Amino acid sequence: MRPYNFSAGPAMMPEEVLVQAAVEMQDWHGCGMSAMELSHRGRQFGTIIRQARDDLRELLEVPPTHRILFMQGGATAMNAIIPMNLVGRSCAEGVIDFVHTGVWSGKSLREAGKYGVVHIAASSESRGFHDVPPRDVWQLTERAAYVHVCSNETINGNQFGFVPDTKDVPLVADMSSDILSRPVDFSRYALVFASAQKNLGPAGVTVLIVREDLIGHALPCCPSVFDWQNVADHDSMFNTPPTYAIYLCGLVFKWLKKQGGVARMEQDSIEKSSLLYDFIDRSAFYRNDVKVDCRSRMNVPFFLANEALNDVFLAEAEKHGLLQLKGHRLTGGMRASLYNAMPIEGARALVAFMRGFENRYGRLSVV
Ligand SMILES: *Cc1c(COP(=O)(O)O)cnc(C)c1O
Repeated sequence: MRPYNFSAGPAMMPEEVLVQAAVEMQDWHGCGMSAMELSHRGRQFGTIIRQARDDLRELLEVPPTHRILFMQGGATAMNAIIPMNLVGRSCAEGVIDFVHTGVWSGKSLREAGKYGVVHIAASSESRGFHDVPPRDVWQLTERAAYVHVCSNETINGNQFGFVPDTKDVPLVADMSSDILSRPVDFSRYALVFASAQKNLGPAGVTVLIVREDLIGHALPCCPSVFDWQNVADHDSMFNTPPTYAIYLCGLVFKWLKKQGGVARMEQDSIEKSSLLYDFIDRSAFYRNDVKVDCRSRMNVPFFLANEALNDVFLAEAEKHGLLQLKGHRLTGGMRASLYNAMPIEGARALVAFMRGFENRYGRLSVV
């Protein structure tokens, strides 16, 4: 049995996908070449990228008003690419509204400040990013270029439980760490973007789901390869796309369809995260600080009552086949990421291990 990998990303892949990729490694569908050796201009790769796009559209029920683009540079590059493509549309002198809920929205707003005027419409920073400010406290700018939210803060462990109404101002969401984990109503979003290495596949490709009318407004300084008009006009092949990463995402999409799609992923993620949160909340030895109705189903940060035991905890967890539980260096403690590829058995095994660890060490050390 493979160990359970709780990494926040690059994250665990579905085992079936790895097995299929291994089988097809040297010969994709009898063509005598690996998927990674195919020309991006050829018929075979054309089939791969089209199928991946169509499957993603079907899984997420993306309406015809929105284009699906595959790009590069990760969500980090998007932090610059988005303002470069959108501030030119703005009537309010390039003001961008941000809802600041953690490390990732912080990175996004700092980068956007190079291209526009950043306005923080709401923030949970003073509360340690332990919640998502409710919509009624946001102070939005009329006619802003767009409103940026991070639907799931991978590091701080909070997640939006609502879709904010931003009227005519485009709503932009970084869904890097929760895309495909629950249904999304795209009529409410102008743009959704995500790095692949959490819930989509391997690192190297970025998915962008963008409403048509937002395309075609890039600033003159925007690199051609990052101008959505160019990317869209060339079906995500303005330059050589990350072909093998797209192929693997395509296998993940097929796997997701077979599992029952995002509805099933949502059910499973509720089950996995509840197992862990319920256990943590009943324990005096473990602690999660995020406001209960803002907790992430994807990334569960937690702390031991006695932090001197952190290294022992990680070493013993590894011996139990529970890998990469160390928390982000900015937060310390532990973090368990429960993306789509993590089986429910993985969450059960983690809780069983944590219970045993508490029994062995907890009573001795809690003061
Ligand atoms: C991982 C992550 C990113 C960064 O992705 P890169 O591929 O490293 O650029 C951005 N935002 C969120 C919410 C993430 O989880």
